[in-house]
Amino acid sequence: MQLIYELSVPGRRGIKLPASDVPSAAVLPEELLRREQAGLAEVSELDLVRHFTNLSRRNFSVDTNFYPLGSCTMKYNAKVLENAAALFAPFHPMTALLPGGADFCQGTLGMLYDLGQLLADITGMDEVTTQPLAGAQGEMTGIMLIAAYHASRGNKAKKKYVVVPDSSHGTNPASAAIVGYEIITVPTAPYGDMDLELFKKAMSDEVAAVMMTCPNTLGLFNPHIKEISDIAHSHDALMYYDGANLNAIMGKVKPGDVGFDVIHVNLHKTFGTPHGGGGPGSGPVGVKKALIPFLPQPRIVMDDDGKLLLETANKGSIGRTANFFGNFGVMAKAYAYIIMLGREGLIQVSEQAVLNANYIKEKLKPYYDLPYDMTCMHECVFSASKQLEHGVHAIDIAKFLIDKGYHPPTVYFPMIVKEAIMIEPTETESKATMDAFIAVMIEAAQAAISNPRALHDAPLTMPISRLDETKAAREQNVCCSG
Ligand SMILES: *Cc1c(COP(=O)(O)O)cnc(C)c1O
Repeated sequence: MQLIYELSVPGRRGIKLPASDVPSAAVLPEELLRREQAGLAEVSELDLVRHFTNLSRRNFSVDTNFYPLGSCTMKYNAKVLENAAALFAPFHPMTALLPGGADFCQGTLGMLYDLGQLLADITGMDEVTTQPLAGAQGEMTGIMLIAAYHASRGNKAKKKYVVVPDSSHGTNPASAAIVGYEIITVPTAPYGDMDLELFKKAMSDEVAAVMMTCPNTLGLFNPHIKEISDIAHSHDALMYYDGANLNAIMGKVKPGDVGFDVIHVNLHKTFGTPHGGGGPGSGPVGVKKALIPFLPQPRIVMDDDGKLLLETANKGSIGRTANFFGNFGVMAKAYAYIIMLGREGLIQVSEQAVLNANYIKEKLKPYYDLPYDMTCMHECVFSASKQLEHGVHAIDIAKFLIDKGYHPPTVYFPMIVKEAIMIEPTETESKATMDAFIAVMIEAAQAAISNPRALHDAPLTMPISRLDETKAAREQNVCCSG
């Protein structure tokens, strides 16, 4: 593919603007005016359209192909959700924050307020803030709320630790560490959940919080979860729920009912909005009553007449954790998603997601090692250890799938599984799509024995083959046309 700059011809234009009748110096201060040409490519409109259209065809998305990325639920974004989000486009986020502005935005504030109530209902919490811009930022917000809670009870110095299982997502310990806690990691037992006896040993009155996701990143629901939260509470530690895996239990279990005090929800995983490439995300945080006094501001509250107001002067609040009310468009899509599906629909989503994951698990079990062999929730975790005997790694299978038109599943996570391959089909995939994927996974397993070279060389169909992914992320070179 030719680079757009290689097509550039001096003087060629895509559009012609009328001559400006505004003196440029009158609008911008002198020091902000550009002194040199911007050096943009000079091309026709058609050249430009082809450039961007061709680039877009190199993107991989749920809209083009199966995308079974475990843990980070890649959800199909129904097009009607975009229509719903577009309805709110005329709303400028600043309006509500101007003096008296809330009067003009009762509808949009109402959507945010209702979404908070719906999420509180789904998760079993008492109130939700929509501010955080992603799951990880929700974790940080949640842990800040927990810290504020302990501080308000005079326990700031005493509470030093946050406990996490070793299967946890890396953001969990990272978020707790950023807020200033030391991390205690509890190993996973052979039955696939946090080792209960070792957990009991790790607990003390110095623990501020226990962070868990349930089902965990092995896709397993912890049957001891109530007992774990009772133990945590007996030490005055709060339970934090990482809601990234809510797609497995929506409408079935409310985390608040099994003892969790704080939760973040990844709207971009569970409630529409595909993610990847850094955004957009939204990580609302729900809390039990005792933590409401510390929620971020501005906080949307309803007065006795049903009018929505913005609370901004609560001194106990941890403050603002994002601009305005968070990523508004993602919330509008989540709101539409919940309203359209309703209670029965959300339950059906979870059931179908779990059924699909178990279907893939059973079909691939004869070909791939399944270290925790039990009924899974919405995702299943294999190991490429059998393939490794032939010199084939999980990464080789991942690259082979790319050539076959599939996004690879999550590999090498959770870290407690050697050569992990974590598959999450989601609820929207048909049996036919899953069968086609299963056939390719079986082909990969057979190639590992008969022709490992084919796997080592993959991918062969992409503009570039294998890169040093860490280096590529840190030293981006998007001009490479190799
Ligand atoms: C995705 C994920 C997170 C982090 O969420 P982001 O929205 O990507 O910041 C945390 N925990 C688990 C289990 C996840 O899958």
